[in-house]
Amino acid sequence: MRRITILGATGSIGQSTIDLIRRDPGAYDVVALTGGSNVAQLARDAIDLRAAVAVVNDPTALPALRDLLAGTGIETACGPDAIVDAARRPADWIMSAIVGAAGLPPGMAALEQGTTLALANKESLVTAGPLLMSHAAAHGATILPVDSEHSAVFQALVGEDMSAVERIVITASGGAFRDWPLDALAAATPAQAASHPNWDMGQRITIDSASMFNKALELIETREFFGIDPARIEAIVHPESLVHALVGFNDGALMAHVGPPDMRHAIGYALHWPDRRHLPVARLDLAAIGTLSFRPADEVRWPALRLAREVMAAQGLMGAVFNAAKEAALDAFIAGRIGFMEMADVVAHMLDVMSAQGGQHNAPLSLDTIMDTDRMTRLRVSEHLADRG
Ligand code: NAD
Ligand code: MG
Repeated sequence: MRRITILGATGSIGQSTIDLIRRDPGAYDVVALTGGSNVAQLARDAIDLRAAVAVVNDPTALPALRDLLAGTGIETACGPDAIVDAARRPADWIMSAIVGAAGLPPGMAALEQGTTLALANKESLVTAGPLLMSHAAAHGATILPVDSEHSAVFQALVGEDMSAVERIVITASGGAFRDWPLDALAAATPAQAASHPNWDMGQRITIDSASMFNKALELIETREFFGIDPARIEAIVHPESLVHALVGFNDGALMAHVGPPDMRHAIGYALHWPDRRHLPVARLDLAAIGTLSFRPADEVRWPALRLAREVMAAQGLMGAVFNAAKEAALDAFIAGRIGFMEMADVVAHMLDVMSAQGGQHNAPLSLDTIMDTDRMTRLRVSEHLADRG
């Protein structure tokens, strides 16, 4: 039996992971499930999967979790430190599917046991790429990409040598506003931004798809995970979301990964790697699909893409600044405090402010400097928004 832990079990990726595990009940021994505040879901899954421990981030939700799990023998705990402790419990495969920089400390803790970390939490690579990768190497741990584009690239690279790779192309659906007139974007609402044409995902990543902050994070994620020069990484708009990524080689070949927009493919690939197993995803009928289309990604419509290039050039702690500013700007947009296009303005401003501060962003990368930078950036964003009134 493989021991499995799922960090962020109640979310979209967490639930898709559980869907796969549930199909093969004898194969897995579930160690820990963690969630943010949805204790009803967490308790149901913990009972159903016979987890050893269920951890909720929100401390006020602990009594309800305890009530729901009373008499089951399942341990309960709450808070960020308890999530890190859960990630330290011995497991053979750990899914990192918390949303945001909050996923970094438990991901780091998981790597320390030299396990396999299936990484959906792209924010940890954006904020702390070099640290996360060196931590994995130091502890003999394996990181497997779960983001669909990065799983696609990873699969296209099997048996290949990175020195033969000329470029990596990741695709973007373009999100909810791909075809909106540019001048309508300023008035776009969170509800409009949270409806994705092709993928069914959590609210935050869906809005990030409309703004392309998601693709911006993924450009950085590509650089950090595959160690490739940013000039060799491209993003292209592909409205059908069937080609997830392409790898271009030095002989002119372009290997594309094609499949339905269903995260259970990338999750399942990471779950069974290095083998391939049957997965319950739709099989594409190419004749019925007929056409796959591509268009350039416009940096006027999606300024986040330009900002990602700045961040990759600056390196150091600017990834942490970028991610934290983006998370804080997204919070402000969801709360109705700023408009859709203002998110990129806020992030651009924070990159300027924090890079002008010199010292801080040149400090050596450690979990502490990164989490400090994350906190300071969020604080600066709230001051900036308060100043603007
Ligand atoms: P989601 O919002 O649906 O779920 C997030 C999970 O994290 C939930 O269990 C939530 O309770 C928990 N959580 C939220 N804040 C927390 C905190 N501060 N501390 C501890 N737990 C917290 O998000 P999702 O769409 O499943 O995305 C999860 C991660 O996977 C993100 O990093 C996202 O970018 C990435 N990802 C998601 C998809 C997708 O299809 N949903 C695709 C690629 C990558
Ligand atoms: Mg993706």
